Amino acid sequence: MDIFLPPLVLGLLGFVLGVLIFIIGKYFGVKEDHRIDDIENMLPKYNCGACGYAGCRDMAKALLSGSCKADGCKPIKKEDKDALNRYLDELLQGIQIKPAEK
Ligand code: SF4
Repeated sequence: MDIFLPPLVLGLLGFVLGVLIFIIGKYFGVKEDHRIDDIENMLPKYNCGACGYAGCRDMAKALLSGSCKADGCKPIKKEDKDALNRYLDELLQGIQIKPAEK
């Protein structure tokens, strides 16, 4: 009978800690903007720093904030840059047509 006690205690402890991690993640988790991932996936992902940012993710954040243009990425292909500019234009239009709240 004593042989079942350690797996039972460890299983119960694992379950309680799992529930605790789930609750903490639900209420204290950081939500990332999926648009940053979308933009980063359109960049070459060389992380070369030629744009002046630490990497493609920082460049994606700057593009989303509007503080730089897709031309800042030196190795990006023309068709990828065009697709990125279209995506950014659509985002900008989405922001512009949003009705002002009173
Ligand atoms: S220049 Fe382009 S590929 Fe290089 S880090 Fe900047 S965004 Fe990424």
